[in-house]
Amino acid sequence: MISKMKGKDIDMGNVAIYPGSFDPITYGHIDIIERAIHIFDKVIVAIAHNDEKRPLFTVEERLEMVKEVFEDNPNVIVDSFKGLLVDYVAKTNAKVSLRGLRATSDFEYEFHMASMNRSLNTHLDTLFMMTSKDYFFVSSRTIKEVARLGGAVEGLVPDLVVRRLKEKFKLPVTKKKQIGWDD
Ligand code: ADP
Repeated sequence: MISKMKGKDIDMGNVAIYPGSFDPITYGHIDIIERAIHIFDKVIVAIAHNDEKRPLFTVEERLEMVKEVFEDNPNVIVDSFKGLLVDYVAKTNAKVSLRGLRATSDFEYEFHMASMNRSLNTHLDTLFMMTSKDYFFVSSRTIKEVARLGGAVEGLVPDLVVRRLKEKFKLPVTKKKQIGWDD
């Protein structure tokens, strides 16, 4: 893939775009990105401006979190986009959109989106990667629900995301209470 940077053409190699809401990024997403980076030279994590989904985190906050997670990996590029994915992809020349599949319930929606994107841009293929066994039940939506109710999401999202969720939901840092005869 040839991309323009500061007026120069730079060959970025084989590039995949991983579009999504990432509201917030979870270890399920991170697992897909880390596996994809062994297949592609670069992975562009493209955060969608999708206000109709009423996201918890702003695009800026989501960008910050994903950038922080991948700050040591120059092969992961983090960006955001408005509008149609195919229009964004056209600006980058990438030919593959990467998506993750957790369960058969994901399949129908993903199948429709991939077919629609292919009808809008015949050069854009969607590549699906199966979730890992450790993260098949992890979605941003359930993470938000559990965190809002004060449940532990450690181990399912990075610590920096745990902190952001606690800030958002104004939750105190919990200390385990010792229950004994003195209570
Ligand atoms: P969107 O709102 O576009 O579905 P998401 O951030 O929810 O964006 O997900 C982006 C992509 O990552 C989707 O293809 C989704 O199926 C996939 N994904 C989300 N969570 C996981 C997970 N735990 N394992 C594998 N893929 C996942």
